[in-house]
Amino acid sequence: MRDLRSKKIILKGSVRLVAAAMAFILCLTMATGLTLAQQPGSPPPLAIEKIKDNVYIIKGGSGANCFLITGKKTNLLIDAKMTPESFKDMLAEIQKISARPLGMIILTHSDGDHVNGLRGLQEKVKILSHRKTYEEMLPAVEQTPELKDILPTETYEGKKLLDFEGTRLELRNFGPAHTSGDTIIFIPGSRVAIAGDLMFYGRDPLIHKHKNGTFYGYLNTLQAMLDYRPEIEIFLSGHAEPAGRQEVAGLIASLKDKEAKIREMMEQGKTLDDIKAAFGVQPPPSGSQVRRPPLVEIIYQEIKEKK
Ligand SMILES: [Zn+2]
Repeated sequence: MRDLRSKKIILKGSVRLVAAAMAFILCLTMATGLTLAQQPGSPPPLAIEKIKDNVYIIKGGSGANCFLITGKKTNLLIDAKMTPESFKDMLAEIQKISARPLGMIILTHSDGDHVNGLRGLQEKVKILSHRKTYEEMLPAVEQTPELKDILPTETYEGKKLLDFEGTRLELRNFGPAHTSGDTIIFIPGSRVAIAGDLMFYGRDPLIHKHKNGTFYGYLNTLQAMLDYRPEIEIFLSGHAEPAGRQEVAGLIASLKDKEAKIREMMEQGKTLDDIKAAFGVQPPPSGSQVRRPPLVEIIYQEIKEKK
């Protein structure tokens, strides 16, 4: 892995950075669950781009990237944007590409910018997710009955194989990472994998401790994603451009490097504040209510717990 350390994650221009930053803010805003707040201003327009064969990415609108797999009779949607408006707009755009009914929805994880748009779903459709994703969505749904129809109707654990009208799909969860119920959808026939929020290019990964996400789990899941099916060439995710194997390997290497540096500073007797300062982590603005620990702090705590 050492030789990959020099291969930095490629950023194609500032537009990508700005988009990634905006997406991050969205994900952060929605991190506590399924709040109903809308973002100010209008979201970027929806755009559907073909990735390969019958696999498409749906960018723009409110919320994270979604994904479309067209079938012989129906369409399969992966994730659901953040607002009912964006969700309905997305279904209308999909019809321009594939005028088939929606056959199934798979949720990659429970964050609101991936699931809250389901409030715009006006028909009974099978919604599939990992069991932990269902459990993470439950408290918000119990508080807000309006959300009850967005709950997954079917769950799996560990691994699930699906034949979607001739397209073979493998759903995998490799343990807690971004949340406790992250699903990676492998499409071996197209050499494509769809991960939820396992890649954030241009910034630190987001790990939801309140949903039992973990740094070591995140690392483990990224490596498992590469190892599970070596033939996969394209990795898609909610807040990053399509990536290749080298970019995923570069992300793993940079995270391992960060962990090693923090470990070294801890062995030198440095405090958490020293380490945060060395990484340029700013203290949260005074009076801010919800405090999400920065990645450096999450790594520090997990190294301490491991000892
Ligand atoms: Zn997320």
